[in-house]
Amino acid sequence: MLSVTEAAATILDLVLLPTEAEQVSLDAALGRILAQPIPSPLDFPHWDNSAMDGYAVRYADVQGASAEQPQSLTVVETIPAGRSPTRPVGPGQAARILTGSMLPAGADTVVMQEVTQREGDRVIVLEAPTTQQFVRHRGSYCRAGDPLMAAGQLIGGPELAVLASAQCLQVPVFPQPRVAILSTGDELVGPGTPLQPGQIVDSNQYALAALVRQAGAIAVPLGIVPDQPQALRAAIQTALTQADAIVSSGGVSVGDYDYVDEILVELGATLHIRAVAVKPGKPLTVATFPIANGSAPLYFGLPGNPVSALVTFWRFVAPALRKRSGQGTDWGPMVVPAVTSHDLKAGGQRETYLWGRLAMTAAGHRFELAGGGHNSGNLINLAGTNALAVVPVGTKLIPAGETAQVMVVG
Ligand code: AMP
Ligand code: MG
Repeated sequence: MLSVTEAAATILDLVLLPTEAEQVSLDAALGRILAQPIPSPLDFPHWDNSAMDGYAVRYADVQGASAEQPQSLTVVETIPAGRSPTRPVGPGQAARILTGSMLPAGADTVVMQEVTQREGDRVIVLEAPTTQQFVRHRGSYCRAGDPLMAAGQLIGGPELAVLASAQCLQVPVFPQPRVAILSTGDELVGPGTPLQPGQIVDSNQYALAALVRQAGAIAVPLGIVPDQPQALRAAIQTALTQADAIVSSGGVSVGDYDYVDEILVELGATLHIRAVAVKPGKPLTVATFPIANGSAPLYFGLPGNPVSALVTFWRFVAPALRKRSGQGTDWGPMVVPAVTSHDLKAGGQRETYLWGRLAMTAAGHRFELAGGGHNSGNLINLAGTNALAVVPVGTKLIPAGETAQVMVVG
């Protein structure tokens, strides 16, 4: 049985980086991954401009100004934001300027309004600025031709602002991986079907589709597959025509109706992982299909227990999808040290994940274990959690008040 670290590394090695790019409009780029570096088409700022409301001046005119020795300058014009100055500032002159307004020729410094007095067409400067104070110089943030953003960048609000400022209307992004989702089990029904004795709702389909989308991929929910080899074979074959990766839940343990591994081998897949020393989630199948059309579809056979399915997705599938999406090199998971409020107990044989809430307090990160049973069938106390505390192999207890490594999943 592989350790969690070995399994995670094996999986990442199997994932191919995207090679193609597609163009999307700026409006559709949120959450996508930049496929090519973007050079800046412009200088930022585009021109010398003022960082303050005040007066554009020549430093030489005001370097000796003070309350005792005020300097009086003639105000030659007002430069509102969005307009070009119409005349240079000469010796003994100033221009009224507003934040973001272009600096007029001749001026090299801005005196902020708060240290001036206005008297008609004159301004009295009561405090000497430093030279070039409050001037944002053209190209000081980024020069035309310099890299604006690197390939692999996840596009969020700040990145959209930068792309919009650079007038990048079409954004080159990697195609999103398509992930088929299958739920195996004769006991499963959709949430609209009245339950017969022994049946349960296929909740994994909803959870896994949501996590696929949160990882930046396209979820292709393919529904429930009964525990029959024929049906499973047909469902996987269909999934292969529609997706770059397949995530199934259930049917990977050693029960009489667990056919996933057997069918994968029949279909020509290579099994790389069949079990991982993790709790919850021990039976975990990872397989690849032969390369076709430049892609080698990946198969993740997650355990059926709702908590096991989610924990194994967070720990193993989400980083793989981030890599497959082309996102930088930081594929996760994100792990932070946090002081646990409760005892964290484990068997010591397998790396154990306990769910709860991570909070930032004045004293640092704190982990609150979810109340109720911590068994892989209890999905109810998963709601409202955002983190998994990790108890390593060989440890049976991390006592309350001690620091644990906590994986952020929210
Ligand atoms: P399995 O891995 O197929 O042996 O399933 C283990 C447990 O998880 C069983 O109790 C199943 O009823 C439950 N289970 C399997 N698939 C799902 C699903 N899609 N949604 C909710 N529970 C499931
Ligand atoms: Mg089953």
